[in-house]
Amino acid sequence: MSLNKFLFKNYFVCASTFCLLLCLSACSNERHGPQVSGDTMGTSYSMQWHGEAKSVKIKSIRLAAEQRLLEINQLMSTYIPDSQLSLFNAQNHSGWFAADAELIHVLDQAYSISKASKGAFDITVGPLVNLWGFGAQLEGFVFPSAAEVRIAKLTLDWERIKTQQQPLSIFKPAENVYVDLSAIAKGYAVDQLAMLLDGFEIENYMVEIGGEIKAKGVAEHGAAWRIGVETPMHAGRSVEAVIALNNLAVATSGDYRNYFEHEGQSYSHTIDPRSGYPVQHNLASVTVLHESTTLADAWATALLVLGPQDAYNYAEENDLAVLLITREAQGYVKTYSSRMRAFILN
Ligand code: ADP
Ligand code: MG
Repeated sequence: MSLNKFLFKNYFVCASTFCLLLCLSACSNERHGPQVSGDTMGTSYSMQWHGEAKSVKIKSIRLAAEQRLLEINQLMSTYIPDSQLSLFNAQNHSGWFAADAELIHVLDQAYSISKASKGAFDITVGPLVNLWGFGAQLEGFVFPSAAEVRIAKLTLDWERIKTQQQPLSIFKPAENVYVDLSAIAKGYAVDQLAMLLDGFEIENYMVEIGGEIKAKGVAEHGAAWRIGVETPMHAGRSVEAVIALNNLAVATSGDYRNYFEHEGQSYSHTIDPRSGYPVQHNLASVTVLHESTTLADAWATALLVLGPQDAYNYAEENDLAVLLITREAQGYVKTYSSRMRAFILN
């Protein structure tokens, strides 16, 4: 079998929106405020703001952010064998599992998007993600057979995952249910870092993890933060659209960073739970604006699964601000939902 697998493996593999002030600074020659950045969740994070730049305050913010990210990873990562989520996945029987309120909150948010997208967003897609070589269990990838896909698909069960507050716990419907929060945890962490900056009484900031972004107030020159949406091409980086972001979050999902090719066909890390296969339409990226980064992140994946027509219809029916980029014979084509147009600068 000729298998051409690109092991981009979760490092800088997210489809991406990025802050123009950060990435195009060489061209724009704009001044930067204080910044904190580092690695997390198999990608990078950054926080920038303007205002007080005392090094002692920057140091406190960095320490608090790193601590917060460690806590979130220790709850939600499938790459950490003893994270709370990994222990839940490893529980070898159905039944209730004692869990932290934060993990329960993210599961509840995920449930709401699964329900609204009629299962296009499905955190129990983990066995399929692993089968297709995009999960924590990467060793010895072999292109899956139709039978293997069918068997992994049988474990999908988002509707039967329940949470309760007293005592704080999650119900595991079957031993082989495996939850993967990769499509929502980065957004949640961005919201948490934004809250952290609020706690430091910073009014104007931009927080980003792997291209999921929240911006508050204004950028240094007094105008809205400007966010670039990438052209969804497999190699290189260029800006396809520029969005003005004020007190909102933006997330992009796409098929162009984390993928492999097999017998002339591309397979990306977004799985359609209805087929069990990586999505196979011409919708290359979806960008969603929302008050919540958690929900923007999850919606971007859900709409990417739904495909160009359903994604557009859903955005219009639900008044969501969405930019869809499709691959057409004439090149990349952008489609904006009505609500999105007001945010586009170019
Ligand atoms: P993107 O930048 O494309 O949104 P993310 O890392 O945020 O990338 O989300 C993609 C990840 O979500 C996949 O690697 C996989 O772990 C998970 N995933 C894939 N398909 C689905 C789905 N239908 N519902 C929920 N999560 C999914
Ligand atoms: Mg995402």
